[in-house]
Amino acid sequence: MHAPKALIIGGSLGGLFAATALRAIGWEVEVFERSPDTLDSRGGGIVLQAAVLHTLAFAGIRPREPLGVRSKNRVYFDRLGNVEHQQYMPQSLTSWTTLYTTLLNAFGRAHYHRGAKLVGLTQHGRRVTAQFEDGRSAEGDLLIGADGGNSTVRSLMLPGMKPSYSGYVVWRGLVDEMQLPQAAKQQLYEDFVFQQDPQSLMLEYMVPGVDGSTAEGKRRFNWLWYLPVAPGAALDRVLSGRDGQRRGYSVSPGNLAPEQEAWIRTQGEARANPAFRELMRQTDEIFVQAIIDFKAPKMVFNRVLLTGDAAFIPRPHTAGSTAKAAANALALAKALDGSTDIEAALSRWQVQQLAEGALMGDRGVEMGNRIMGITFSAASCDR
Ligand SMILES: Cc1cc2nc3c(=O)[nH]c(=O)nc-3n(C[C@H](O)[C@H](O)[C@H](O)COP(=O)(O)OP(=O)(O)OC[C@H]3O[C@@H](n4cnc5c(N)ncnc54)[C@H](O)[C@@H]3O)c2cc1C
Repeated sequence: MHAPKALIIGGSLGGLFAATALRAIGWEVEVFERSPDTLDSRGGGIVLQAAVLHTLAFAGIRPREPLGVRSKNRVYFDRLGNVEHQQYMPQSLTSWTTLYTTLLNAFGRAHYHRGAKLVGLTQHGRRVTAQFEDGRSAEGDLLIGADGGNSTVRSLMLPGMKPSYSGYVVWRGLVDEMQLPQAAKQQLYEDFVFQQDPQSLMLEYMVPGVDGSTAEGKRRFNWLWYLPVAPGAALDRVLSGRDGQRRGYSVSPGNLAPEQEAWIRTQGEARANPAFRELMRQTDEIFVQAIIDFKAPKMVFNRVLLTGDAAFIPRPHTAGSTAKAAANALALAKALDGSTDIEAALSRWQVQQLAEGALMGDRGVEMGNRIMGITFSAASCDR
């Protein structure tokens, strides 16, 4: 008997978690990634949650190097840099690149197809055919939409359903450990550091270096600053890159419009505590992402399913996006393992994943709105 075959659309973390977990239960797996090049990190950090480690272990992935950088305390600064509150709360922080490289190295390149943009799919009985922009097609027993917040698979299965804008964005940057002057370094070193003001939250933690190194001197300081931006013209300006093109939800490093970059740097000089101010000064390329919400009402459509950000986009305050993509994949592999009734297994999987996704989504909205003081109207935004 032939092994069942999964077609995975999207070769980022969600796609690779599903690919490695399904391969571990004996499925044949092909991953199709739209981007023709190696995916570039948006550079930022990811809290290393237990779900990620469990999914890697299930897939038999045992990294030789530690995946994360430890942070010891949670420290809250006021604008002058005085410590308002400090609590011992150890955590492990990793980066998108570290997880991506670990997963891709384990999965291998032979069944990872770059430059394969899904444009259509058809279901016929228990089989699915995927159509790609370049005219290629592929057939399998299951098609997994792991194609992120702007999912094509979702738009085909749930036409008209789109993420909604939350009312705020996050400005982000990274600075090499050795680049930060000593005074700022001392205040931020190996801690999870915050500055909370009305409608504003800055935070910082250390992540592995570009090469994944967690060794002292090789790591990076990763910062984020959540600020409200009114929907409409103000958001359009923030999300329009230096080429004037309006991006969907984010402007990548190096592409911010000069007036946006000047604005956020001026804000930093005026509003950030001295250590964060220094971090922003030392950042070569600031980037920005709109915070958006999405909750799928359904994840299984016969032999097509949605995972990761394609199904649920939780607010980043939950630190749960990557963990959820991992948990989706692990639960799927466990549900399908040894099952002779794929439909029944998928249906059980969906009930649990919908409940968990909705819970995380609601918790994130509540946290985010509380942190950002969102009862605000466009008029109360500072831009
Ligand atoms: C390049 C990159 C860098 C990131 N960096 C960070 C980070 O630094 N910090 C952080 O917290 N999160 C980051 N994320 C987001 C993080 O990966 C996700 O929020 C989370 O892990 C869930 O992942 P996902 O695989 O479901 O979605 P995503 O990570 O968004 O991946 C979706 C993938 O699907 C591909 N795709 C989309 N449409 C199609 C199509 N039609 N056909 C084929 N492929 C398609 C995309 O190119 C992308 O690779 C990054 C994502 C990407 C793609």
